[in-house]
Amino acid sequence: MKNEYLLLTPGPLSTSETVRQAMLKDWCTWDDDYNKEIVEVIRAKLTKLATEHEGYTSVLMQGSGTASVEATIGSSMGPNDKLLVVDNGAYGARIAQIADYLNIATHVVAPGEVSQPSLDKVKTALEQDASITHVAIVHCETTTGMLNPIEAVATLAKEYDKIVILDAMSSFGGIPMDIGDLGIDFMISSANKCIQGVPGFGFVVAKQSELEKCKGRARSLSLDLYDQWHCMQANHGKWRFTSPTHTVRAFYQA
Ligand SMILES: *Cc1c(COP(=O)(O)O)cnc(C)c1O
Repeated sequence: MKNEYLLLTPGPLSTSETVRQAMLKDWCTWDDDYNKEIVEVIRAKLTKLATEHEGYTSVLMQGSGTASVEATIGSSMGPNDKLLVVDNGAYGARIAQIADYLNIATHVVAPGEVSQPSLDKVKTALEQDASITHVAIVHCETTTGMLNPIEAVATLAKEYDKIVILDAMSSFGGIPMDIGDLGIDFMISSANKCIQGVPGFGFVVAKQSELEKCKGRARSLSLDLYDQWHCMQANHGKWRFTSPTHTVRAFYQA
């Protein structure tokens, strides 16, 4: 099968020969040739691919894409914050479920699986509930293929001064966008969707000033987005805990 027809298919995609070849060498999670020459290069490229704006940075996180979503929700929201979730499919519902597990208050706007979210409903919620601090939306609802109106929702969220979290798992690298233009604060994707690496880690491209506010907020040690970022930042690409080295090397290739 040709890869271009697979861009928006869910789940791990078919990887190329060179990507698979890249995994034949062993790497050490402490070595400079891994951290500086692979991890740091990937971080810089991801940031650049996400936006031309200054002030953005990226962090890689072990686990499937959901772990990165959970790390972002769990680390970016303070104890009294409230999340507006746009849910029109399985992955929007998963964001609401993550918030539920973490005891984070939510307001869910759920138009059903085959409808675009009502901007009026989002606006009304933002207008009437001042306790909402963050807005989360999925870019491409992979199960239905529905593309959500992220520009309109992000613009609205920014009018009300909210933090915007975008799950762009199945669109980043496939559908052009500049998250800086859109005012997105946290954008999440993973190794094995459009970029066609192998599964094993996700990544978050974030506005650095907002990421810095996540310090000490995480509800989970291993999913502490700030701490992971800080470790990579301070130690030239060093992951806090064992890094999925082969997967990362394959991603570099992809
Ligand atoms: C695939 C996907 C996820 C979840 O990713 P996993 O790697 O399966 O955890 C989340 N959101 C969207 C939009 C996806 O396509």
